Amino acid sequence: MDLSDEDLYDVIVLGGGPVGLFATFYAGFRDLSVKLIEATEDLGGQITLLYPDKYIYDMPGFYEVIGTEVVKNLVMQAKRYNPTIVLGERALKITKLNDHKFEVVTDKAVHYSKTILICTGIGAFTPNKVEAVGIPEFEGRGVFYYVRDPERFRGKKVLIVGGGDSAVDWALHLKDIASSLTLIHRRDVFRAHEKSVDALMHSNVTVKLFYVLKEVKGDDWVRKAIITNVQSNKDEEMEVDDILVLVGYKADLSIIRQWGIAMDSRGVLVDDTMETNIPGIYAAGDVASPKSGFRQNLLAVGFGQAATAANRIKKYLEPSSSAFEHSTLREPSSKITASPETATH
Ligand SMILES: Cc1cc2nc3c(=O)[nH]c(=O)nc-3n(C[C@H](O)[C@H](O)[C@H](O)COP(=O)(O)OP(=O)(O)OC[C@H]3O[C@@H](n4cnc5c(N)ncnc54)[C@H](O)[C@@H]3O)c2cc1C
Repeated sequence: MDLSDEDLYDVIVLGGGPVGLFATFYAGFRDLSVKLIEATEDLGGQITLLYPDKYIYDMPGFYEVIGTEVVKNLVMQAKRYNPTIVLGERALKITKLNDHKFEVVTDKAVHYSKTILICTGIGAFTPNKVEAVGIPEFEGRGVFYYVRDPERFRGKKVLIVGGGDSAVDWALHLKDIASSLTLIHRRDVFRAHEKSVDALMHSNVTVKLFYVLKEVKGDDWVRKAIITNVQSNKDEEMEVDDILVLVGYKADLSIIRQWGIAMDSRGVLVDDTMETNIPGIYAAGDVASPKSGFRQNLLAVGFGQAATAANRIKKYLEPSSSAFEHSTLREPSSKITASPETATH
């Protein structure tokens, strides 16, 4: 198949989460033509899906910033060099046609590029569930696995189940919105940021350690939760309006596993240039599993990986190009088509 320059992009970025968005900007900044393909109808990845209204405290340059604000700015920045953005298409298969040509088959179309940058995060992910009587019956009727709109918990008696970052962060966020907030955790050790756990323990949240959710009762909506102390085996009944089960997420990387790229149990293996075992295919963000084994699923880390990958892709396509450039030294202004005012969602 003969492709025009327009159809054959320098790089296809798979995944429009925060890292894919920054990679899209950065590749454009390095004068590469970019097509971004996102499986859902929304950009922003986990931030948009899981914590749009949560404060982020470790975003470089911000004292604190709310999730949606970060996504809005990432989208604006990503559009700076006029990439092609495809929403609602899930990449199903990648085939290397030759050294500088890849074919990406999605559930709706076929796309071509000289390189691929995989930023698919933890893939199609599903929330972990807890084994408690009545849970399946009340899902969506008082039992939730995500917080889309914190305001819907205003004035409610809320029970949070979990001891990870998600549970602790949401407890802190909802503590002054809910009329009462209880967090139960099956152990006394949290898998959450130390500072957040400290804040939780000194807050108005009722924290019950060594408790699990045993049963959920109600009518057309959840009304009661039976919780069990795993040390004493005694049950307690609580009145609740809503239960948030925040016990982590299962990543589903099964699609990527069919692409013939070397992976470990947590993602796509990359070297320190973010290249995979297949020349021309790179990965960044949560999907990337550094061969060093030191993995950090953090926005700041993912952004650095995106910049590294884009710089390496530039070098791969144009070996005589510089390894990196400072924005003050070179701004390919001829390619700027979007202004901050027009390049929003
Ligand atoms: C509750 C919670 C709170 C967090 N708080 C913080 C925090 O305060 N600070 C911090 O640094 N980090 C935080 N994180 C982690 C941070 O959100 C992730 O590290 C970050 O989202 C990773 O970005 P990503 O772009 O690599 O992946 P993702 O955000 O997962 O985005 C991946 C995108 O790829 C798309 N995709 C997947 N498969 C395909 C496919 N086959 N084809 C096309 N598109 C596909 C997905 O739909 C998604 O939009 C938090 C995470 C959670 C869950």
